[in-house]
Amino acid sequence: MHDFAAKLQQPSLWPKVLDYVKWQRALRKAESEGRPVPDMPDIAPLSINLDLTTACNYACDHCIDWDILNSKDKHEDEPLRASIERMAERGLRSVILIGGGEPTLYPGFVEFVKFLKGLGLAVSVVTNGSRGDRILQAAPYFTEGDWVRLSLDSGSNDTFVRMHHPSKKSLTLDEICSWIPKIKTANPKLNMGFSFVITWVGGSRGDVKVVENIHEMVAAAKRASDAQFDYISFKPFLERQDDGAEVMDPAKTEAELQAVIARIRQNLAEARAVVRDDFRVLASTNLRVLMSGTWRDYTNQPKVCHMQMLRQVVTPLGTFNCPAHRGVPKAMLGGKDLWAVPAAGQHDTARVLGDFDAHAECGEVTCLYNSTNWWLEELVNASSELPEEAPGQEQRDWFL
Ligand code: SF4
Repeated sequence: MHDFAAKLQQPSLWPKVLDYVKWQRALRKAESEGRPVPDMPDIAPLSINLDLTTACNYACDHCIDWDILNSKDKHEDEPLRASIERMAERGLRSVILIGGGEPTLYPGFVEFVKFLKGLGLAVSVVTNGSRGDRILQAAPYFTEGDWVRLSLDSGSNDTFVRMHHPSKKSLTLDEICSWIPKIKTANPKLNMGFSFVITWVGGSRGDVKVVENIHEMVAAAKRASDAQFDYISFKPFLERQDDGAEVMDPAKTEAELQAVIARIRQNLAEARAVVRDDFRVLASTNLRVLMSGTWRDYTNQPKVCHMQMLRQVVTPLGTFNCPAHRGVPKAMLGGKDLWAVPAAGQHDTARVLGDFDAHAECGEVTCLYNSTNWWLEELVNASSELPEEAPGQEQRDWFL
């Protein structure tokens, strides 16, 4: 899922990548020769994270977006749609409905999924699972390759409630999982994922100590498999540092880190032994680099983050350059409807591409796009001609 360079080399995405790289080459050449810089070509992000709302009906101890939840800022449906349409005309291929905020709480959630699919976009949803009824209503609109992932992080009702504090006091993990067979019946093509952020003693959000769930990894995998999910994905807990960047800081628990990793490995092996044959137990990229001890390699970014052009984050608070800096003022490209006027989107993206020093600002972030950014940097700096024909195979996977 995270081989973004391969995704960008698909025939469906390559022409826009080419436009961007050619522009970067022309820009740097003009700058080095002291000439006026060229305008960005008429392109838009290929993929966006779209926070439909900042409202949330949980109060998770481990929430990475705590500081931006339940703000007064809201999307207006019509300008938001106009913005997405302008982007789609310029190359947008996929939308991940996610938060800061619970997407299914957006009043027009089902209609919005229908609208996005009507534009021919790939659509996925990251949800807390509290509104299985709305996912079920939206299910018929999804097509092959679309997915819905529920952030559940637990194997028992008790841990689920202690971690997430749902506003509906009677809500249980059992109830949430009971929606999955109905959703799969409504649309068997829709890929359903169970997401599990692993927490262990020592993690915190500010002064709040997170509830440990590492001992429920196996139970969660078994539960997900039995409930007809297609996969479970395990990832390590992330924290926000003082400047707002989303970071993994295992050094904080260095004394226990090796013991924690050994437990995670053991739990992954046990989880794989108790699930259906066609059910996948996945370790996220962050988790794999934590276990292999290579996570620091992903913190060395080039000065220019090229992904800022190719994948952006649209929220009721504004449009941002990256999910790792959601809601952070210095990572803001513009307002929530920035792309309703594409020239403004291009102008502000060019400004942030120049101003945002990713090497410094993301020096503590274990960036999933690290190798893709270095690959794009090499393409920009290479003297050879760029191939007009796409180097990669079409996978029809446009999520970035
Ligand atoms: S370098 Fe990585 S973490 Fe930083 S803005 Fe770019 S994609 Fe985000």
